[in-house]
Amino acid sequence: MASQVLAATASPYSLAAFAAAGGAIVVWGMVNAVTAIGAMNADLDKPAPAPAVAPVTAPEPPPPPPPAFVFDAPLPGRVINSPFGLRQMPWEENGRLHEGVDIAAPAGAPVHVVTDGIVTRSGVSGSYGRFVEVAHKDGFRTLYAHLGRDAGLKRGTYVKRGTTVAYVGNSGRSTGSHLHFELRNKAGKPLNPALFMGKTFAEKDDLPLKAAAKVGRKVRLAQVSRWPEGVKAQMAGKMAADDEGVVTRVKGGRVRMRINVVDG
Ligand SMILES: [Zn+2]
Repeated sequence: MASQVLAATASPYSLAAFAAAGGAIVVWGMVNAVTAIGAMNADLDKPAPAPAVAPVTAPEPPPPPPPAFVFDAPLPGRVINSPFGLRQMPWEENGRLHEGVDIAAPAGAPVHVVTDGIVTRSGVSGSYGRFVEVAHKDGFRTLYAHLGRDAGLKRGTYVKRGTTVAYVGNSGRSTGSHLHFELRNKAGKPLNPALFMGKTFAEKDDLPLKAAAKVGRKVRLAQVSRWPEGVKAQMAGKMAADDEGVVTRVKGGRVRMRINVVDG
């Protein structure tokens, strides 16, 4: 080893070669000799700077991914005054499923789409009145009904969460100014919107699909301030009618009827 070093010292070029070959420890011992020779290799004059040591800090956790599903309320800050579930109208013999929630609001209040989607339908139906339907990812659909007017969005329009799609009204078989809001799964089954409104879900598996599809056995008697137009006339004049929407029954010698009112 010593002879190698001496031999290397004689020629700075071979010294460099020696260092490159792995002789670094020995090289530093020869700096003075090299300097005496005439500092032919200026790079060897100074020791290499100490390697910069990064301050030791805990690695920052990556930011959480955005939630896969975000649902707002269609009328933020307003309360549900008729929930999802079995409900009986005073003019009906039996209860039926109220397939959404009713949210009381003054006519003209803007209705916001609860999550990103595409407008699929808008129009007027006898029971829903003026309505707008929006399709969302994973087959969800939302429906906004009894509207005063829609916002004029054409079918196929992409709407970002929070976009005004319509304005509250009292159209269709409605008994006062409110929004009837429905949420359906990809099979078209109505879900309880209360389990989604104002909530975020990190991933698909977190969606309360089973809980929201459950319908309790309890039948609520709807409190109706005024009966829909024509119901009394229908009861008086069409007792025997059995066309669509009207069911007649004979019970204890009395004719009873049930009118197919989808929503109150
Ligand atoms: Zn309703």
